[in-house]
Amino acid sequence: MENILSLSLDEFKERVVSLGEKGFRAAQVWQWLYERRVNRWPEMSNLPASLRAVWAERFLLGSLECVRKQESFDQETTKYLWKLSDGKLVESVLIRAPDRCTVCVSSQVGCPARCAFCASGKNGWIRNLDAGEIIEQVYHTDNWLKEHENKRVSHVVFMGMGEPMENYENVVKAIRLLSDEQGLHISQRRITVSTVGVVPGIRRFSEEGLKASLVLSLHAPNQRLRQKIIPYARRYTLDEILESMRDFAAQTKRDITYEYTLLQGINDQPEHADELSRLLKGDPCTVNLIPYNPVDGLKLNRPSGEAIEKFREILEAAGLNTTWRYTKGKDIAAACGQLALQEAVAN
Ligand code: SAH
Repeated sequence: MENILSLSLDEFKERVVSLGEKGFRAAQVWQWLYERRVNRWPEMSNLPASLRAVWAERFLLGSLECVRKQESFDQETTKYLWKLSDGKLVESVLIRAPDRCTVCVSSQVGCPARCAFCASGKNGWIRNLDAGEIIEQVYHTDNWLKEHENKRVSHVVFMGMGEPMENYENVVKAIRLLSDEQGLHISQRRITVSTVGVVPGIRRFSEEGLKASLVLSLHAPNQRLRQKIIPYARRYTLDEILESMRDFAAQTKRDITYEYTLLQGINDQPEHADELSRLLKGDPCTVNLIPYNPVDGLKLNRPSGEAIEKFREILEAAGLNTTWRYTKGKDIAAACGQLALQEAVAN
C-alpha cells in the first residue's frame, strides 16, 4: 500500500484520477490531512463511505506508530520512539525554544558511519527510511504541537539516526514535500541536513536547487585522527570533503558550518585547535563545538568547561567563528548522538 504522506497533492490527484475518481476528491483529502490534521479515513466525513472503504485498502494515511514519548524534566525536549510498518524502530526529538520548535529527524534505521561516540551506528546500517517515514516524524509532531501547545514545527534538522547523504533520494524528496505549500509548508531555509562527508552526495546536493542548509560533521583536524573517530571517513579524503563543502558554499552563496564533537583527550587538545585553525583558515565558516554527550557503554568523556573554552579561544584567535551547542534533553537521552533503542518494544 502506498503512503499518502509520501506524495504531493498533484501526485495523489494523478492516482485518484487514474482510479476513475474526480480530482477534487484528492484536494478534500489534503484538507483533512494538512488543514484539519485528521489522518483517519472514518473521520473524513465529506468523502462517500464507499470511496473511503476502497481507498482504505489502497492508501495508507501514515505508517508510523508512536510507541513511546518521553518529556525532559524542563519540558523543552520530547523524544519520540516510532515503530515502522516492518516493526523496526527509529527516534526523533522535538526541541522547543522561545522562538522556534525544531524536530530532529532520523533518515535511516541504524547508520553506516559508525562514529565512535554515537549511539546510532553501533549496529551499523539496517535500512533507509522512505520519504513518507521521514515526513511523518514531522507531521505527527506538528499535529501534536498544534493541538496541545498551539505551536508549529518551524525547523527541521536531519541530525537524528542515520546518514542522510546515504539515503539521498528519499531525503531530498522529503525536503521538497516538507516545504510544499500544500503540505507542511516548512521553509527550506529552516531545514538543515548534517552529513558525515559523502562527497558525491554533497556535490549532488549543491546542484539540487534547494535552499536547505548542509553542515559537515568534521570532528578532527586531519585524516588520520578522523578515521580513528569515524570508520566511514576512510571512504573520502578530508581534502575532497572540504573541497566539496567549499563548492557547496560558493554555489549556494552561504557560509559553511562544521560540527566538531569534543572528546576528552582525543580531539580536544590545544594542538588540535591549532591544526583545525590552519585547516579552515580563510573559509567563511562557523565551527559548532558540541561537547560529547555520554552514551551508555562507551568509554569516552566530555572535556571540562575550561578545556572547551581554551579550544574555542584558539579558534577565535585565528579568526574563526565558533558556537558552542547548548545540550538539551540529556536527562531523557535525547541529546546529540544519544538516540539509541534502549528497549525492544517492537512487538
Ligand atoms: N550522520 C550525520 C547526521 C547524524 S549525527 C552526521 O554525521 O552528521 C548529527 C550530529 O550529532 C553530528 O554532528 C554528531 O557529531 C553529533 N553527535 C553524535 N553523537 C554525539 C554525542 N555522543 N555527543 C555529542 N554529539 C554527538
